Amino acid sequence: MTSMIRYRIEPIDPAAHLFEVRLTVAEPSPDGQVFSMPAWIPGSYMIRDYARNVVAIRAESDGREVELAKLDKSRWRAGAVSRPLTLIARIFAYDLSVRGAHLDTTHAYFNGPCVFVSVEGQEDAACELEILPPDESVATDWRVATSMRRKGAEAYGFGTYEASDYAELIDHPVEIGHLSIGEFEVNGIPHGIAIRGRVRVDMGRLCHDLQTLCEQHVSLLGIPDDMDRYLFLLHAPGSGYGGLEHRWSSSLVCARDSLPARGDDVVDKAYRTFLGLASHEYFHSWNVKRMKPAAFTPYDLSTESYTELLWVFEGVTSYYDDLALVRSGLINETSYLELLGQTITRVLRGGGRLHQSVAESSFDAWTKFYKQDANATNAIVSYYAKGALIALALDLKLRVETKSRVSLDDAMKTCWERWGETGAGMPEDGFEAIASEVSEIDLGDFFDAMVRGTGELPLEQLLQTHGIDYRLRASRGNGDKGGTKSTASKERKVWLGATISDSNGRPVFVSIANGGPAENAGVAPGDEAVALDGLRVTSANVERRLRSCHEGDELKLIVFRGDELLTTVVHIEAAPNDTCYLELRDDVELAIENRRIAWLHA
Ligand SMILES: [Zn+2]
Repeated sequence: MTSMIRYRIEPIDPAAHLFEVRLTVAEPSPDGQVFSMPAWIPGSYMIRDYARNVVAIRAESDGREVELAKLDKSRWRAGAVSRPLTLIARIFAYDLSVRGAHLDTTHAYFNGPCVFVSVEGQEDAACELEILPPDESVATDWRVATSMRRKGAEAYGFGTYEASDYAELIDHPVEIGHLSIGEFEVNGIPHGIAIRGRVRVDMGRLCHDLQTLCEQHVSLLGIPDDMDRYLFLLHAPGSGYGGLEHRWSSSLVCARDSLPARGDDVVDKAYRTFLGLASHEYFHSWNVKRMKPAAFTPYDLSTESYTELLWVFEGVTSYYDDLALVRSGLINETSYLELLGQTITRVLRGGGRLHQSVAESSFDAWTKFYKQDANATNAIVSYYAKGALIALALDLKLRVETKSRVSLDDAMKTCWERWGETGAGMPEDGFEAIASEVSEIDLGDFFDAMVRGTGELPLEQLLQTHGIDYRLRASRGNGDKGGTKSTASKERKVWLGATISDSNGRPVFVSIANGGPAENAGVAPGDEAVALDGLRVTSANVERRLRSCHEGDELKLIVFRGDELLTTVVHIEAAPNDTCYLELRDDVELAIENRRIAWLHA
């Protein structure tokens, strides 16, 4: 048995954004201990090379300096010593995302992969972490929020924490600062939320709603055996959105104004977005944090890990995040159908769905989905959005074809029993095999077309079997995300096949659709829009300009490409019906209504 690894982190220079991290290895390798830093963080599939933020690093033993050689971009080897070895690193932390580490004079936040090196060969050793406060001149009211188990530290206090191994150590993000804290229970398990930012929030209502939501998820798969606590860490700035899942916690970013203020009692669109985010990350407690692809079992954080299954872990999670809102009664059916209509719209508007399957999108996440460029909408399909729609289609298909005997819920329960409760990784064909096994339906053609192919999803017909009409219309323009009915007079008649957005105060063409009028006219991403049909065109007025145009019109378009003025002619085309909304039918027969109730109110 190896001895415990002792880590210590101190916000040593908040103004310079520097943490100092020390770790002591009681029994370093006699050949010279190797240390390494992760290249990526689980849940965010991109090589980030966290070692690049190490600004200084040295080793010592018995008070004497020990030689430290850099082996590659992320690893170091210390000289051989026979006594305990201490590594001391200064790490620059100025990435405010949920994947990063950030330190300034107002707070400290870190993810383990950004600040803690691993001790090669002793990754299974228990870890202890001492979290030190900043200098008193910086702050005296800071508290510590993390799901890491306390080992002497008081609740929300500085002091000592512990983790069973390195993988667990880096799975507990830590927020330190001026915090608003709420607590609640789910099935007797303590849950909490710690919010950073200047918020005025109805904490009682927030906790009540989160409890309702978490209980809904627990009712599907049950509390995991090792989930004895859970904490939502929330940063609520003026604007922003994002989240990252962990086993006992999640880091969320959402706009301050999306949280409920005292006196609010409705779930408006902004609060619905926040609840959807919390729902998504909480569902990951099962789906991807405990039940994982075999490719992530265990994680190799030194290099890319390839799997075609991200659509299962992100797409199915994206399906259940909103579904849990309606099943728990936090939103009504109409509100849920609006969200579904928006997801369908997002997928329909991306030409990339015709070129890339979700299996390919999963596999290539590292270099495509996470590195989107100007051609992304033409080349990439989101394994989140299309994955969620495949989950929807599969759920409805199973319900209809098994006469309500089996649903996606049953497939997920069986997957959870097989690979979640056991911790064995899900093989690449595992999800499909289980879906076919529990339903006793041959789903080979379905998965070939939907997952490995680029076939259109049979949603219109499947939603029909649940008493829901699938409708398409033209977009009303920028800002129309779909999901709702519209009046024809407000919809576009024609389009340019490109979006004009403001960039550094200038109107710039982005997202140019393959085969659309803008591309046919030779417009390129990044071109600055100057004039259309002799008049100045901006992101704010382009939709109005187009309202007076008709299909077939030929308009002179002037753009700057770099500093050169170009003139071209755009052949205006009819706007596509790329916007979906769903309508609940109330004239359906009882069998259909019962099926719909079983789906939305499980
Ligand atoms: Zn996710």
